[in-house]
Amino acid sequence: MAKINENYLKLPKNYLFAEIGKRVTKFQSENPNAKIIRLGIGDVTQPLPKVCIDAMAAAVAEMGNAETFRGYGPEQGYNFLREKIADWNYKRRGIEISADEIFISDGSKCDCGNIQEIFSLDSKIAIFNPVYPVYLDSNIMAGRTEIIYLPCTAENNFNPAPPRENVDLIYICSPNNPTGTTLDKAALKSWIDYAKENDAVILYDSAYAAYITDENIPRSIYEVDGAKDVAIEFRSFSKTAGFTGTRCGYVVIPENLYGKTSSGEKIPLKNLWLRRQTTKFNGTAYIVQRGAAAIYSDEGQAQIKNIIGYYMTNAKIILDGLKSAGLTAYGGINAPYIWLKTPNNISSWNFFDELLNKFHIVGTPGAGFGSCGENYFRLTAFGNRENIFEAMERLKSLKPNS
Ligand code: PLP
Repeated sequence: MAKINENYLKLPKNYLFAEIGKRVTKFQSENPNAKIIRLGIGDVTQPLPKVCIDAMAAAVAEMGNAETFRGYGPEQGYNFLREKIADWNYKRRGIEISADEIFISDGSKCDCGNIQEIFSLDSKIAIFNPVYPVYLDSNIMAGRTEIIYLPCTAENNFNPAPPRENVDLIYICSPNNPTGTTLDKAALKSWIDYAKENDAVILYDSAYAAYITDENIPRSIYEVDGAKDVAIEFRSFSKTAGFTGTRCGYVVIPENLYGKTSSGEKIPLKNLWLRRQTTKFNGTAYIVQRGAAAIYSDEGQAQIKNIIGYYMTNAKIILDGLKSAGLTAYGGINAPYIWLKTPNNISSWNFFDELLNKFHIVGTPGAGFGSCGENYFRLTAFGNRENIFEAMERLKSLKPNS
């Protein structure tokens, strides 16, 4: 019998969404007339922007013509998309990133999960707690055991200080899933300085960059001095342009970002990633890349702004609703996530049950994202407007201090 990778057995049980589903199904079967409002999902609900649909339709037509048909594309993505990203997301914001430092993929989940492959197995990792689970699980699967958790709570303003000890890789997610909070330039600078002093690499996930409304919050870590020497950036079209089911994302690995061999030789990380991708990945669909490229036009930008604006108005309604119900809530200003403190410090699962049973509202217990998520709860702004108004109306009778 083939031996398995036993590291998989060390993974924390991924019961969060299964357990939520189980409790909701039970409640619904016992209360068939209850109208449940789901504010727990991390998936978009609005349709793709029209520019993307039109560009993909044109690409489909090209595929039906022998002259313009495309087979395998470049593993690292077509230049038409890489150049548009370099221009619109970087150059126009004063950042020099060239098209060949950008690697197109079929979404950030794979990129965030796969990037650890180019680093040594004895790398020491720093991860925020609570956190998007992919960073931790992908390292556990690979067999890494030295993991430092950095508590992210209201007490430290969701902005943990760099650790005292030396780590090799630091995962940072801003705007953050699940807390909806962001790191400002000063906070990122302290991580960049730490990475330089400790020869560490920052793995910066800004999948929600398009939701930042505050001009002072960086969309890209490369807006901060020195980041190109120490940081890899992950971006996605999923939440930016509704591509959760269409699939497109990218990684930026600057030319001058290095790792080293055990004998001390410096190796460009970009070359390792290219080697990894050309071996294990065969490129994102041409049709999808055409769709993604369509957001980089004035019309495309206006359309994505409109959709993101819809979600962010939802976020504001939720934030205001929670506050007027007497709850303390964070996030929701530069991210589609609202992170609330459970009333009277009850556990996040007890609050889940209370919201479901009394108000017929479903959210996500914070404890599911890490131990420091206990006593917190995540709501998302991706639902439809009427449901959000109704949910906030229902919450008016929540009396946290009674
Ligand atoms: N990074 C974070 C923080 C996310 O929350 C998500 C999706 O929810 C992703 C990455 C993955 O995005 P994609 O759809 O591009 O795989």
